[in-house]
Amino acid sequence: MTEIAFFNKPELLLTPRLPDRDSTPRSRRYYLWTVGCQMNVSDSERLEAALQGVGYSPAARPEDASFIVLNSCSVRASAEERILGKLGEVQAIKRQHPDTKIVLWGCMVGPDNQSIFAPRLPFVDHFVAPSAVDEVLALAPNPIYQLDEPALPVRDWQHAPVSVYVPIQYGCNMTCSYCVIPLRRGRERSRPLAELVEEVRRIVARGAKEITLLGQIVDSWGHDLPGRPTLAELLEAVHATPDLVRLRFLTSHPAWMTDRLIETVARLPRCQPELNIPVQAGDNHVLKLMRRGYTVERYVALVEKIRTVMPDIALTTDIIVGHPGETEAAFANTVQLLETVRFDKVHIAAFSARPGTRAAEQEAQPALAVAEDEKVRRRRTLEQVQERIATAINAAFLGRTVTVLVEGESKGKWRGRTGGNKLVFFEHPDDWTGRLAQVQITRTGPWALVGSVL
Ligand code: SF4
Repeated sequence: MTEIAFFNKPELLLTPRLPDRDSTPRSRRYYLWTVGCQMNVSDSERLEAALQGVGYSPAARPEDASFIVLNSCSVRASAEERILGKLGEVQAIKRQHPDTKIVLWGCMVGPDNQSIFAPRLPFVDHFVAPSAVDEVLALAPNPIYQLDEPALPVRDWQHAPVSVYVPIQYGCNMTCSYCVIPLRRGRERSRPLAELVEEVRRIVARGAKEITLLGQIVDSWGHDLPGRPTLAELLEAVHATPDLVRLRFLTSHPAWMTDRLIETVARLPRCQPELNIPVQAGDNHVLKLMRRGYTVERYVALVEKIRTVMPDIALTTDIIVGHPGETEAAFANTVQLLETVRFDKVHIAAFSARPGTRAAEQEAQPALAVAEDEKVRRRRTLEQVQERIATAINAAFLGRTVTVLVEGESKGKWRGRTGGNKLVFFEHPDDWTGRLAQVQITRTGPWALVGSVL
């Protein structure tokens, strides 16, 4: 079982990934729990594929597994609290079944936090840094097969899901004031082009229809590789994969979004008309405090350029409210930015100080810190503004026919996405999993569209 949440997409999403119906004994069952961003989701997907490759089966409940892996996130305090709650649960299981092996994995551990956690969490057997899939795999106590190659890149899905995330780059070289990712995931490391093309080919050959290339600053991919290839070149290469239906990438940084990349997304038919470009704040002073490296004017000019080339592009962004130093007037500028740009979707988070970051030091200064209830008020205000905007944008889909790639079933309805990543539900007796459906939209709301298949 895998549980997934998002650091820049704050909702929890519970996804029982695989049914629990075979007779595999507890000694060869794993329980994998994931919280965090798409990078963690991707790491967990790769671990699942690798564990199944050595003879493990998933368990629906942690008490039914001999190998428990918690893939953690520390980008927000709320994610850490969730993990601490989960650790309490698995501690009780360890008491009942002392032979259970427990691994705490991911950003909470980071490259060098083992020594901090080990004395506080004696029931955890191992602490493993983010993305180290091979290291977690090597800890599995009862494999029945040996892997003849490393678990990275993705190894032999039996049946790949419709949509698969492929990490193309690890780490981040930026020093955004509020972010622990550079501390936890280290410097940027791009994966070579040939390796990625081969990996995508293998995943698509196993049934995936949609590939999302992942990186913390995905548009900077390649700058650290020999010959400095660009994301535009990688898109061209991956786009040629036989049977690939859709290609996306995230998360982009405004400073790396080149004209060539925009032109490439517009030109390649399988590249979907959607870009996620976090702006984080709509005020220049706050952007400077955040060390984002651009101004509001530059960001808006970039949006205009993108929309000139692709008028129907769906734009999504991330915003943090309540960063230290964000005055009421600065917050009003962020509200204004939402009204100006009219994003399709905005992931809004209230600032929470992460130890070791520059913003945590700023938060400690009473003159700069924003009160907790004020952060909540700003978050709610922004959510209401965005709900109104998204309602209006989505209302324009009423009566239109959209092409939906169906991901699966959800509460008796088929669930899929448009090219612009709008969630669409429809009812139909046939199995639509992995197929493209032409859906006429009959109902719209801020978060999803409903329609009938033609
Ligand atoms: S770009 Fe900034 S927010 Fe994004 S991962 Fe890097 S440091 Fe964190």
